[in-house]
Amino acid sequence: MKVDFFNPQIYDAQVQIFKVLTHPARLAILDILRNGDHCVCHIEAHLGYRQAYISQQLAVLREAGLIQDQREGWNIFYHVTDPRIYDVLDALRQMTGEQAAPGQSKAVICNCPKCSG
Ligand SMILES: [Zn+2]
Repeated sequence: MKVDFFNPQIYDAQVQIFKVLTHPARLAILDILRNGDHCVCHIEAHLGYRQAYISQQLAVLREAGLIQDQREGWNIFYHVTDPRIYDVLDALRQMTGEQAAPGQSKAVICNCPKCSG
């Protein structure tokens, strides 16, 4: 008698998103994009990672479809494509009891177009 096992492919899209989330820098970037679109230099100023490293993580997030980029003049701004990702992240934060995001600390001196403009 043939047993109909479930088809693991029904989880493919979810697995892809979870894979991308298994990285502290990517979670931190998503948290920074929580309050709107930002450029690489803003993320760099607030996280302290080098720009090349941030660009690498942004590329992973973009390829997974979690963020999109938009050019404005000389700058490229990134925004989250579907804010429901924050429902997932908020639920995880509540489950783990971990501290709130690396925020938009006022103490950080940021020269990005939004902060300095
Ligand atoms: Zn800024």
